[in-house]
Order: sequence, then structure tokens, then C-alpha cells
Amino acid sequence: MRLEDKVALITGAGSGIGRESALRFASEGAPVVAVDIADAAGEESVAMIHSQGGEAVFVHADVSSADDCQRMITAAEQTFGGLHILMNNAGIMHGDDGDAINTSEDVWDLTMAINLKGVFLGCKYGIPALRRSVVSGSTGASIINTASFVALMGAATPQVAYTASKGGVLALTRELAVTHARENIRVNALCPGPLHTRLLMDYLDTQQKKQRRLVHIPVGRFGLASEMANAALYLASDESSFTTGAEFVVDGGITAAYTTPE
Ligand code: NAD
Repeated sequence: MRLEDKVALITGAGSGIGRESALRFASEGAPVVAVDIADAAGEESVAMIHSQGGEAVFVHADVSSADDCQRMITAAEQTFGGLHILMNNAGIMHGDDGDAINTSEDVWDLTMAINLKGVFLGCKYGIPALRRSVVSGSTGASIINTASFVALMGAATPQVAYTASKGGVLALTRELAVTHARENIRVNALCPGPLHTRLLMDYLDTQQKKQRRLVHIPVGRFGLASEMANAALYLASDESSFTTGAEFVVDGGITAAYTTPE
């Protein structure tokens, strides 16, 4: 068991990367606090964990709300007696996010509130709990912030708010990693490439739009949420004990590509 004696909290655990990570972490021995605004989906993730013999509870929380973030962290400590792994993963990709001229302030503000402020609030209330759970001499605690490959590259199909929010997540991650390194709290950003999840498939809602993205991926397919969960598992576990402040890119080669194979 790679996460024995560790309690994990995952936001956006009702779908995609968050759900797959919740299932994977639980299968490696971690009790999981599954957080989402979508109650039925979050409860379903918990039921899936229970049916595979793991431990989990659902907590309804909106990551853009300070009160909700405080409550989800308290729930982890009260239910499972501590917190060792914090995965700030919830995020949105708004359908009206475009270039700077056409993107409304409302879309910008909503995207920033969930994708960037949500990570800040998770850390603001989560780090004190991680500190309380880190026993001296142990390999410590792990924060995983889900960013994106778009934080590292520009695209001609713009989503300025989303891209800027993920760039902010990377900058925030680096600074937190340095600030908390001596406390045995590691902070890394997971940078997924384009995935076959609801978030991206809803956005790329025609075959033509999907194809336009696919041509840039050297491996020639969208990634799977389960492939991100495996990467997150490495960052969550003691196997990554010397990895902090990293932009952990798992993207089918998209950021390495100048051109793709025929
Ligand atoms: P998803 O839409 O499948 O899941 C996101 C979950 O977050 C949903 O269950 C949703 O209800 C929840 N959520 C949304 N707003 C919330 C809020 N305010 N508070 C709490 N929960 C909220 O998406 P996914 O593809 O699994 O994406 C997860 C993360 O990965 C996001 O941060 C996303 O930006 C990032 N990402 C996704 C891709 C991709 O191609 N899918 C690529 C790179 C990065």
C-alpha cells in the first residue's frame, strides 16, 4: 500500500481526474475526503470507493468560498484524524472564455475564483492541518495542485482566463514549495495534457474542434483521467519525497512537440 496511514482530500472528486485520483488513492490505503459542488457525483465517487473496500466521505464545498474550504479541512481532521495529502484539483473551463477582447469580466472573475483562488484557499486552510499531521522524522505531507499544459504554452484557440488561471497555479505552487520545504510539506503542480474528460469534451463539442487539438498530441490520442491519477499517486506518495516545486507534465508529448508524427 503506497498511501498507508495517510489521509487525502481531493477537490473536484465527483468527476474526471478528481474521481480517478480518489479511487486510486483509496485503493492504496488512504481514507479520502471527496469534495465537490455536485452532490450526486461526489456521493457516487464515495460509493465507488466503498464498493472497492476503501474509506471515504463526501463533503459539499465550493472551492471559491473561504468558509467552505475551512469546513472541508475541518471535516478531514474530524472524520479521519488528520490530513497528509491535499489535491487542489477542482476547475472549470468556461464556454465563453476566449480572447482578451471577447471574454467578459464575469467569465474572467468566475474562472479565477475557482481555478486560482480555489487553490489558494485550499492551501490557506489546508497547510495548518498538514502541519499538524506531519510527524517529525516522517516523509511529510504533499500538496498537488492541478494546473495544465496550457500554463506552459500559448494556443491560437484562446481561453485567456483559463490559461492565466493555470499560469497563476504554477507560480503559486513554486512559491509555496519554497516557503514550506523545511517543514516537510511538498507542493507540486500536475500539468495534464488534453484529456478525454467531460471538461474538455464539452468544450471541444464538435469532431472538427477535437481534431484540431488532436493533431498537436504526438501520441495521437487524448489522455485518460486514470493516467493523471497514476501521476498524482506518485506525487502523493513517499516515492516523490525529493520532488517539490515541480511542474509535473503528463501530456502525451504535447509540450515537447515542434511537429507531430505522420
Ligand atoms: P471535470 O469537469 O471532469 O471535473 C471537475 C470537477 O470539479 C467536477 O466534478 C465539478 O463539479 C467540480 N467543480 C467545479 N467547480 C467546483 C467548485 N467551485 N468547487 C468544487 N468543485 C467544483 O474536469 P477534469 O477534466 O477532471 O478537470 C480537473 C482539473 O484538471 C481541472 O482543474 C482542470 O482545469 C484540469 N485539467 C483538465 C484537463 C482536461 O483536458 N480535462 C487538462 C488539463 C488540466
